[in-house]
Amino acid sequence: MATFRFIALEKTLGRKVEAVHYPSKVSDYYGSMTFNQSVMHEYLTEEAYRAVMNAIETGESIDRKITDQVASAMKAWAMEKGATHYTHWFHPLTGSTAEKHDAFINPLSNGKALEHFQGSQLIQQEPDASSFPSGGIRSTFEARGYTAWDPTSPAFILDHTLCIPTIFVSYTGESLDYKTPLLKSMAALDTAATEVCRYFDKSITKVYPTLGWEQEYFLVDEALYAARPDLVLTGKTVFGHASAKDQQLSDHYFGTINDRALAFMQDLEIESHKLGIPLKTRHNEVAPSQFECAPMFEEVNVAVDHNQLLMHMLEKVARKHHFRVLLHEKPYAGINGSGKHNNWSMATNTGVNLLAPGKTSKDNFRFITILANILMAVRDYEELLRASVASEGNDLRLGANEAPPAIISVFLGRQITKTLDEIEQLPEYKELNGHNGRHVIKNIPKIPEILLDNTDRNRTSPFAFTGNKFEFRAVGSSANTAKPMFVLNTIVAEQMTKFKAEVDALMEKGMLKDAAIFNVVKSYIQASKAIRFEGNSYSSEWVEEAAKRGLSNNRNTPDALPEFISEKSVALFEKHNVLSRKELLARNEIKLEKYIKKIQIEARVLGDLAVNHILPTAIQYQNRLIENAKGLKEILDAKSFQQLSKNEVSTIKEISDHVAGIKEGVSEMVEARKKANAIENTLEKAVAYRDTVLSRFEDIRRHVDKLELLVDDNLWPLPKYRELLFIK
Ligand code: ADP
Ligand code: MG
Repeated sequence: MATFRFIALEKTLGRKVEAVHYPSKVSDYYGSMTFNQSVMHEYLTEEAYRAVMNAIETGESIDRKITDQVASAMKAWAMEKGATHYTHWFHPLTGSTAEKHDAFINPLSNGKALEHFQGSQLIQQEPDASSFPSGGIRSTFEARGYTAWDPTSPAFILDHTLCIPTIFVSYTGESLDYKTPLLKSMAALDTAATEVCRYFDKSITKVYPTLGWEQEYFLVDEALYAARPDLVLTGKTVFGHASAKDQQLSDHYFGTINDRALAFMQDLEIESHKLGIPLKTRHNEVAPSQFECAPMFEEVNVAVDHNQLLMHMLEKVARKHHFRVLLHEKPYAGINGSGKHNNWSMATNTGVNLLAPGKTSKDNFRFITILANILMAVRDYEELLRASVASEGNDLRLGANEAPPAIISVFLGRQITKTLDEIEQLPEYKELNGHNGRHVIKNIPKIPEILLDNTDRNRTSPFAFTGNKFEFRAVGSSANTAKPMFVLNTIVAEQMTKFKAEVDALMEKGMLKDAAIFNVVKSYIQASKAIRFEGNSYSSEWVEEAAKRGLSNNRNTPDALPEFISEKSVALFEKHNVLSRKELLARNEIKLEKYIKKIQIEARVLGDLAVNHILPTAIQYQNRLIENAKGLKEILDAKSFQQLSKNEVSTIKEISDHVAGIKEGVSEMVEARKKANAIENTLEKAVAYRDTVLSRFEDIRRHVDKLELLVDDNLWPLPKYRELLFIK
């Protein structure tokens, strides 16, 4: 009987490239499924339109009467587009998105029904939230949670359902999602950064962070996927010997895109564009069957929603093309995993990108000021930034010479470094009220435009300045990127608050504004040196050097997470009203639980596969060899038998060794799991899972992967790496 693996392989050979139909030119259908500004203009009265726009810009709440109007306009628009249901769409702490669909229709007494959707249904819902993780905030007898409309992110239609982006909070007001702290961090950043910007330009009244993410992912044929229980249950392969060829020849990155994959991408883009996700680039990544897509950057909250939606669309569209998408950070051992670079900057209501070096000295003075503040923020909170990207999947990637290390540092490039060095050489302004301070701006070194060429790149840095934005590269591919973003927003808000206090203090003593700013910036440039690193972040020298500089190197999740609930972090988040101590503690519990459960599931899958798939196969093959050896013995004289059976006997022994190794490894792992399960404290339990369960995976895997090379290919039950990785 053919194994599942061969049936799957045969299926992949029959695959055709799915036809892709562009409805019309992209600009015709772009955003057609979103309740965007232009739709609002069309469907809302002038009064309602202004109220919504005002809420978006200022965060002021919308009058009840107006929300009824908006709801009825949304309903009319959505029904024209074929929607039958609506849902509040939110990001619970599971990391994915949640939705509960309700029909528009209400039955009438005359046996008919009428579509119905009111302001109250738009602005708030009360989903029974007891099954979402809350980290103990919401005990099950108080199961109510509220979702509340976020007017700053456009509603959209997916699968005939009107999806309304919302926040998700507990009955007692604690946030149970990713969006709430993100929105709060944006408000904190706005307050702090606007004040700083107003030193330079009084017409600046609003600052908002921007995000352009780059999403990496793998595609695998659905039949092969189905034949790998590990992929189905954990999103990664727990076994698999390296393919003879994988990424050694560097022939995949930016290579010609396979026709099947290209058709998938085109469809993905069509569907994403309808939803207003501004996808712009697509390309092959380093590993075989690994790809990336990236949109034009947007305001952070919308960009995060779009990323969550895109991850959903990746999975949905992949199925149509008989693929499965793998968003896991490390689906295959030995080749590159996937990340999600976060390009981050800040923009103003005046249309200025605060991280774009200006053409004039005045603009550059502002630019350097902002930059110096970010350096200080990252210096002070590098450990928190590291914690914001911690997950069991990302642990396999960070520091494995394919992604930045777990040590956070900032790369600035030659030009900016030179500029900062020059500023450091300039004298500090001593006089409090002399004319000296008037020349500050003139003395600010020019930044040559060459910078914007992007020629100066360092791919190994976790936090790199790339011409007009910072690129945070340590984020994992499956992450809800709200978390690193709200951390970054908050630490920069905190730093800018401190900066303003320092500058104001000098000005109160009589120092001219520019001189005061200059002096503080200069002191920052000196004080933040430890966080700057221009060299190879993958090197072992850097690990040593970073330790000398006192930078943290928390290599895995249980080591990294505690920083989230340190007194310093709690004070930070509480001060800026982003998260309370209670919320932070709850989130920490959820995160640790998730870590434990992921390892637990992986351990079970690994154990089951080893015992139920691999061992029987190995023994079957071994029996065949034994039979063969017996046969040889019958027909040969003793001397020839000795000679001819040497290989066979040694293979039989080798198989025995691996079989024994697997049995022993699995039973030790099961024992360790039992012990770890008995631990009460979540952090201790996570550490036990890491040190006694996870730590055994590699050894079991080594035996299995060796067997893969020994056992007859015809018997091997699991699709091999060479089959999974090369799209047919
Ligand atoms: P690369 O990193 O390959 O040089 P780009 O310069 O095109 O690519 O930018 C990569 C990502 O950075 C894109 O998503 C882009 O929209 C985003 N990006 C560009 N400018 C900004 C900005 N000011 N704020 C946030 N993201 C930005
Ligand atoms: Mg990039």
